[in-house]
Amino acid sequence: MNYKLLIISFLSLLVFATLPSCGEEDIIETDAELQPYFDIFTKEASIRGITVDYEAARIEGLLQNIPNANIQGQCFRNESKPRKVIIDVNYWSNATELEKQFIIFHELGHCFLDRDHLDTTEPTGICTSIMHSNPGACPFEFTNLTRDNYLDELFQ
Ligand SMILES: [Zn+2]
Repeated sequence: MNYKLLIISFLSLLVFATLPSCGEEDIIETDAELQPYFDIFTKEASIRGITVDYEAARIEGLLQNIPNANIQGQCFRNESKPRKVIIDVNYWSNATELEKQFIIFHELGHCFLDRDHLDTTEPTGICTSIMHSNPGACPFEFTNLTRDNYLDELFQ
């Protein structure tokens, strides 16, 4: 009887010991240099009625070396893992404030808003969206004058 009880308690101990690793999820951690820009995205989304929770959405941002010189940022979507916004570290270190905002808004447009590329132009000839596919796709200037309109379009 005592022997049987011992087995049962040993088994329950084993189950308990394996539980944390079963339920364990990848930790969401955004690079400290990118975090202020993730926060700006959150603020601008909130102004437009959209709640952003990176923990719940499982999105993180990382500064890395992207070997392809034509790629400044990427959004990796993987069903089983957190989504990753990867920004090229060299691009980032030379980027202006507005360039940093643009690349984060564009990549979170993919990663958080699930938006695809949009290369259409407005009647004035300029890019419709922050989500244009590449710098040559259409004329685009992200300035203090155009920023609000582009953010309205992004979050609409
Ligand atoms: Zn893109």
